Amino acid sequence: MTILAVRDVARRFGGLAALGGVTLDVRAGEIRGLIGPNGSGKSTFFNVVSGILRPDAGTILFDGTPIQDLAADRRQHLGLGRTFQEIQLFYDMTVLENVMVGAHRTGRADIGAALLRPPWQRAEERRLREAARECLDFVGLGALQDERARTIAYGHQRLLEIARALAAGPRLLLLDEPAAGMNPAETRALMGQVERIVARGVTVFLVEHNMKMVMGLCERITVLHHGQVIAEGTPAAVQAAPAVLEAYLGRAGA
Ligand code: ADP
Ligand code: MG
Repeated sequence: MTILAVRDVARRFGGLAALGGVTLDVRAGEIRGLIGPNGSGKSTFFNVVSGILRPDAGTILFDGTPIQDLAADRRQHLGLGRTFQEIQLFYDMTVLENVMVGAHRTGRADIGAALLRPPWQRAEERRLREAARECLDFVGLGALQDERARTIAYGHQRLLEIARALAAGPRLLLLDEPAAGMNPAETRALMGQVERIVARGVTVFLVEHNMKMVMGLCERITVLHHGQVIAEGTPAAVQAAPAVLEAYLGRAGA
């Protein structure tokens, strides 16, 4: 079953074709990798799929529903979660509060409710807190729940972003370079986390420069270069593809 079907998606920035007509399918339950040299359009692709950016052309089906014209929060509501290449946390809030912000989107509570505090709201808040705690425990940050987000280690901040995304209950989770800035031990632990996320029934779409992680985790990998898909297949197949070698070596030799 296909959870994400992308057809001919294009996005320009002025004269630059950041995405030049990308077509791909992600199967429900897989760990898909998206790799490519810096500037190949990986983050732009995630931005277009998650609704941060609109495509200039093309269609995106999430579980059969066209989403390319929906706002980001609608897409999140449908079950599309993501983390960012540049960590985006509320640094002055606690670790638990950061995750509650994610869980909040699945709850009924809103600002009006917070002001009026109707009877159901306390139960709602308790439910959010429990859900947030469960997600924190899941990524192994339960003991840090009352720390300010700015004070925890960088690797933990990355895990906190994942916990927050999980709290919204995604069925597809886009991870944009989750291992960036992590040491080898943290990266190994992160690989275990991603496997546990998939075991929980969440499909994972992973952008990552750490080749050990991508090759070790992904069943299939899509390779972008200058906004175009230049290869797709098993880790072994894409590593052996001449177009991929050329894209990376061409870059290294430049
Ligand atoms: P990657 O994530 O693969 O490194 P990006 O998607 O971030 O690549 O960028 C693809 C290309 O689009 C790059 O040339 C980048 O400079 C450009 N780009 C990305 N975002 C913007 C933007 N908001 N405005 C202008 N150019 C952008
Ligand atoms: Mg990027």
